[in-house]
Parts: sequence; structure tokens; C-alpha cells
Amino acid sequence: MHNLILLGPPGAGKGTQAERISEIYGIPHLSTGDIFRDNLKRGTELGLKAKEYMDRGELVPDEVVIGIVRSRLAEPDCEKGFVLDGFPRTVAQADALKGMLAEMGKPIHHVLNIQVPDETVVERLTARRTCRSCGAVYHLRFNPPREEGKCDACGGELYVRDDDREETVRTRLEEYRAKTQPLIEYYRAEGLLRDIEGGASMEEVLSSIRKVLE
Ligand code: ADP
Ligand code: ADP
Ligand code: ZN
Repeated sequence: MHNLILLGPPGAGKGTQAERISEIYGIPHLSTGDIFRDNLKRGTELGLKAKEYMDRGELVPDEVVIGIVRSRLAEPDCEKGFVLDGFPRTVAQADALKGMLAEMGKPIHHVLNIQVPDETVVERLTARRTCRSCGAVYHLRFNPPREEGKCDACGGELYVRDDDREETVRTRLEEYRAKTQPLIEYYRAEGLLRDIEGGASMEEVLSSIRKVLE
């Protein structure tokens, strides 16, 4: 069983690796960003609330995010394990996660810290393309779709996320540095941190992760 957290700046490859881990180990991929985008698409109140912050590249308030994760982790498919992608992003979220997992009697096995330099972040995010229907992620150079503008998996339309424009990417990196980076020391102190070199190819990054898990 694997209860995992993926940590890393925007564009580190968390979503890409989480999808692979989810397939290989048969555990659900829990992405708070995907949950917000899905809610926005369906026009829910949660989606509209999150959008204000997301569009500016800022973090959504802790109390909004924590409730969502709490109910998601209580679903039966998380009994086999889970891979958290994009949560926690603040010390308050990490503390809340610790509390809810303790109540559920679940440990965290590994926190995979995917490290990439800032130049790589910008290069990856500005050429990221996301499927409007299923959320699958592509890159114009490193992982292009078979047919331009069209999702391989579902045929949906590929678009540029509003927050993947360069100005917003800068704000997201600042948010990451100010609020999320402290979690590296937080989890290192708990003996859970595993550093992963994220600048390599997708296959190489996956194989470093598998080495940690196996
Ligand atoms: P990234 O590609 O940067 O990892 P995500 O899809 O994980 O992007 O997140 C997109 C946006 O959703 C964030 O910039 C933030 O506004 C919001 N968000 C997602 N997860 C969280 C979280 N755990 N706490 C606060 N805001 C979040
Ligand atoms: P995150 O969830 O951390 O924001 P993604 O998984 O969405 O990151 O990856 C960001 C972009 O970089 C996507 O376009 C993805 O296809 C691409 N990408 C992910 N991992 C790699 C890699 N190892 N090498 C090159 N491009 C990558
Ligand atoms: Zn799709």
C-alpha cells in the first residue's frame, strides 16, 4: 500500500507522475487543482470561489481546500492508498492533513519532492496544454498529442490554462516559495522526504520514483 504526497513547484511534473503512479499501483490520484477546475467547468459555487484566486496565481484559502480533501480521503477507494498532487501547499494544510490521517488511522509513507529549476518551470508551463474534457496534460515539445489541439485519450479540445501565462506563472512561483517550500523542511523533520531529480525525462523521473517505492 502507498499513501503518497507529491511536492514540487508548479510545472514540476506532479500531475504527470501522479497519473502514472495511479495506473501502476492502482491507487487514486487526488489533485486539488483538478477538483477546482472540474467544479469551475460545472459552474459550482466552489469552482467560482476558487477561480478568483487561481486566475491571480494565488493559493485558494486553506479552509476551502482542507474540507475538500477531508471528504475525498474518506471515500472507499482511498483505502488502497492514494497519491496527493498539489496538497498540502501550506503548513496549515499539512497540519490539517496530519490530523485527519491520524483520525482515519492512515500513515503517510513518502513525500516525493520533485525538484526542478525555475527556467524549467516556465518552459514547461508555457507549452503545457490541458484537455478541456478529461484534464489530460500534454506538452507541445516533450509530450505532444498525436493530432494538434486534440486529446489522444478522449478527443477533447486542448487549451492553455489561464494561469499558465508567463505573468501568472511568476506569481505562482512566488506563492510556492513563500508558502509551500517550508513543507520541505517540515517533512524532512518527520523523516518522510524523498528528493527526486525532476529535470530528467518523464520516464527517468518515473523510474526514480519507483526506486523509492519498491
Ligand atoms: P500546478 O500545475 O501549479 O501544480 P494545480 O493544478 O495544482 O497547479 O493548482 C492550480 C491552482 O489551484 C493553484 O495555483 C491554486 O490557486 C489552486 N490550488 C490547487 N491546490 C491548492 C491547495 N492545496 N491550496 C491552495 N490552492 C490550491
Ligand atoms: P505539475 O502538475 O507539477 O504542474 P505537469 O505534470 O502538469 O506538472 O507538467 C507540466 C508540463 O511539463 C506539462 O506540459 C507536462 O507534459 C510537461 N512535463 C512533465 N514532466 C516532464 C518531464 N519530465 N520532462 C519534460 N516535460 C515534462
Ligand atoms: Zn481528454
